[in-house]
Amino acid sequence: MKRSFLWVLILLVSAGCQDLEKQQEIFLMEQHDKMVRDQIVRRGITDKKVVEALLKVKRHVFVPSGSEMSAYEDHPLPIGYDQTISQPFIVAYMTQALQLDGDDKVLEIGTGSGYQAAILAEIVKEVYTIEIVKELAASASQRLKSLGYDNIHVKHGDGFAGWPQHAPFDAIIVTAAPAEVPQELLEELKVGGRMVIPMGTTDQELFLITKTSNGYDQKTLLPVRFVPMIKEK
Ligand code: SAH
Repeated sequence: MKRSFLWVLILLVSAGCQDLEKQQEIFLMEQHDKMVRDQIVRRGITDKKVVEALLKVKRHVFVPSGSEMSAYEDHPLPIGYDQTISQPFIVAYMTQALQLDGDDKVLEIGTGSGYQAAILAEIVKEVYTIEIVKELAASASQRLKSLGYDNIHVKHGDGFAGWPQHAPFDAIIVTAAPAEVPQELLEELKVGGRMVIPMGTTDQELFLITKTSNGYDQKTLLPVRFVPMIKEK
């Protein structure tokens, strides 16, 4: 008698847990759709490829466990090691600014959680991404592999040096802020290639740099706040 009561209790609790999980999944799906609608489309992101990528990639898979319910909010989130996953709008804005094409090869500096890399990988052919914090490089690499992204190549290292073995790139995205543009990265751009990069220490701005046949064009986009791009000690 006692034993069967225990079984009923176990069954009820596990059914309750499944219900809760389902409810959480539905909540996250709704938040995800709402995020794309309110924070991305409504704020002027018009590139269809970018909007579709943001709809496809689940941001809650890229945040630390326990933060999933905040994953679709309108701000960056901590991912450990004093680093953050960028605000969804900034991810979309920078991706759109790169004017990407399906055949492109892109370099990202600052893998972090891997979210931006996944967004890029939905749009372009190959993504190369460098992360200076070893643990973040390892966890992002594993996460991206388990999600099936075989066109993302993660390297642990210092982004200031770029990735010369795979240069030149059609586009470069820097997701940590240096004081000035790293010369090595400029050299790894193709002619016609685009780079989006936040720069500055206290007051930062986002720049779009385009390599031309006789130099570079530089355009200021908007004020931003990124973690600093650090040099390897
Ligand atoms: N793109 C990430 C967020 C980046 S936060 C995402 O989608 O989650 C900035 C990242 O840049 C941090 O993970 C930080 O460790 C890394 N970083 C800082 N300086 C770097 C450098 N010199 N080379 C490579 N990565 C760097």
